[in-house]
Amino acid sequence: MERKVRVRFAPSPTGALHLGGVRTALFNYLFARHYGGDFLLRIEDTDQTRYVAGAEEYIIESLKWCGLTVDEGVGVGGEYGPYRQSERKEMYKQYALQLVESGNAYYSFDTAEELDALRKECEGKGETFIYNAKSRGRLKNSLHIPASEVEQLLASNTPYVIRFKMPENENLILQDIIRGEVHFNSSLLDDKVLYKSDGMPTYHLANIVDDHLMKITHVIRGEEWLPSLPLHVLLYKAFGWEDTMPEFAHLPLILKPVGNGKLSKRDGNKMGFPVFPMEFTDPATGEKWHGYKEDGYFPEAFINMLALLGWNPGTDQEIFTLDELSKLFTLEHVNKSGARFNPDKAKWFNHKYLVAKPDSELATQVGELLTADHLAFDRPKVERICGLMKERYNFVSELYEDCRFFFVAPTEFNEKDSKKYWKEETPALMQELLEVLKSIDDYSFANTEQVISAWINEKQLGFGKVMNPFRVAIIGAAKGPHMFDVIEIIGKEETIQRMEKALASL
Ligand code: GLU
Repeated sequence: MERKVRVRFAPSPTGALHLGGVRTALFNYLFARHYGGDFLLRIEDTDQTRYVAGAEEYIIESLKWCGLTVDEGVGVGGEYGPYRQSERKEMYKQYALQLVESGNAYYSFDTAEELDALRKECEGKGETFIYNAKSRGRLKNSLHIPASEVEQLLASNTPYVIRFKMPENENLILQDIIRGEVHFNSSLLDDKVLYKSDGMPTYHLANIVDDHLMKITHVIRGEEWLPSLPLHVLLYKAFGWEDTMPEFAHLPLILKPVGNGKLSKRDGNKMGFPVFPMEFTDPATGEKWHGYKEDGYFPEAFINMLALLGWNPGTDQEIFTLDELSKLFTLEHVNKSGARFNPDKAKWFNHKYLVAKPDSELATQVGELLTADHLAFDRPKVERICGLMKERYNFVSELYEDCRFFFVAPTEFNEKDSKKYWKEETPALMQELLEVLKSIDDYSFANTEQVISAWINEKQLGFGKVMNPFRVAIIGAAKGPHMFDVIEIIGKEETIQRMEKALASL
């Protein structure tokens, strides 16, 4: 029988969730939605030394902001819980012991100092120390210490770890949904620790046990986990869980905007773009990181951008809602090769979403900014302004900055623009225009356009000769939408006041 698709996002709370992590969550989410399956959130917090306070909350909040609803897991619950590995701690030991019993794992009593000394000794000879079939016979472990001695060591609470007994020189041909066959030779792999002396499982053991117990059908994760694949597959075999072993898919790396290598959090601060979904302050260092949310990105735009980092729909379409993505997303269209991150493209996506937003929604956001600035406004006007101006911006904050002039008369005039457009003959011309403006009662676009154009034609003036200084006078700079729109929105009284002020100060 086909099993119900169950996938998990399994972050370790070691810091803020990088955008690569969000992409992993997104691909898992889309995969679950596409196949009508479950999307789980499991927190892998077995490494207490790397635990960062607030990281788990950050992960949960980020998924929420992105609209990636978790079906089961931390914060939601479900029948396979608990979903935080630290709360499952007690369970893992029996699985480690099961492997010791079946001969797939062993106790190792080597101290950290002893192993360090060996590492150094090898380095001295230009070699690398690996705990594996070649070296394990010389080390302090249950594979060759007499059983009675092992008993004694255990009885006297000598610290130990449990290691996986990696087979010697086995060629492993494994399947990855994205990469196809991947080959490994087990001799290059070490006897990984499964269970630590602090009574905690390592990532490898907890991850496999939990994926099994939580009935995970597909493991979709970053490429950095590909080297762990042979160990994981061997663990499934050792446990006798091969029948229900999940299928694996390792997602391509996200590359720096320029140059080689994987996108790092440092690139963001260096090049001025966020690599985190939301702002994050490292509790240990106090270091602050930008977030897409606070930088003014719409979550839909952020998600849309991430979806195309390594996946393509097979067509030229670039704008997708989360629902559309869920319908289209399959792993067949995920690439093997790294996906280059492009911060300008991220802005482009935001622009597209901004333009597509209903004016009323933008007006709410602009209204909030106006209120925060203690500026009075008329809601229908704000909507109209958003409609007029949104085409030119990537962010609501930019739109806001550029439309503030509707609500506050300019207190200064852009130097370059006034130099360029406010010439010797301009004051007289503007005085005349002011009279025309005073004579008009109907400030609708159609009417002011007609009257002012007629006057310009009659005087045989160039349109720009009038409109450019007019613009500087009303707006304070040579920017903004059509002047007839502008004066319709600010109205007669304000138009005349601004003209008078400009004539007095320019
Ligand atoms: N805890 C691992 C991480 O932080 C999970 C890797 C996996 O999905 O197997 O990415």
